[in-house]
Amino acid sequence: MSIDCSQVAADQLTLYSDSPEQTEHLGYLLAGLLPGGTVIGLDGDLGAGKTALARGLAAGLGCLGPVASPTFTLVMEHPARPGGLAFYHFDVYRLESADDFLDLGLDEYFDRGGICMLEWAGRIAPALPPRTLQITLVQADSQHPDLRQITICWPGQSAWLHNLERIWSDADIGL
Ligand code: ADP
Ligand code: MG
Repeated sequence: MSIDCSQVAADQLTLYSDSPEQTEHLGYLLAGLLPGGTVIGLDGDLGAGKTALARGLAAGLGCLGPVASPTFTLVMEHPARPGGLAFYHFDVYRLESADDFLDLGLDEYFDRGGICMLEWAGRIAPALPPRTLQITLVQADSQHPDLRQITICWPGQSAWLHNLERIWSDADIGL
């Protein structure tokens, strides 16, 4: 199903990042707030900061090893550290449709209990579970090339979003 929060303002939060480090920090904060089994759909143009966000999330989960766009592999598995959550990092840019994703059996990862993050999730939107947390990064202002508008939408999770908004505004990261 495709996820559209535009009708439910409380299920949507808009944040701004001024630098790659801030976007990574948002990922880092998310790692501490997300329950196992969360599926995160990421959208935004090339260079929007999807992989930067994934890198911060991986760091927050305590994953070892480099995080890059898994362009040639579709999914990179980062095993859980003791007591932690595994991280499954997808880049589905090369897939044509949700059917391609399902035919490859990749939806099986959604039920493994780790955190799934999918770059270019919109390309396979009908294959995403209804519980998907959707994040869209947009280069919002041509005068400020490092500024990103980050829209976070999680249907039915307004309290969680409110908490994230508070934590983000409390985080002193040089905004
Ligand atoms: P994507 O995975 O969406 O293609 P990347 O995370 O690989 O994007 O790259 C983002 C690029 O944009 C990097 O070169 C990064 O340095 C730059 N950048 C500039 N400002 C930001 C920002 N606020 N957040 C994330 N990346 C930024
Ligand atoms: Mg990328």
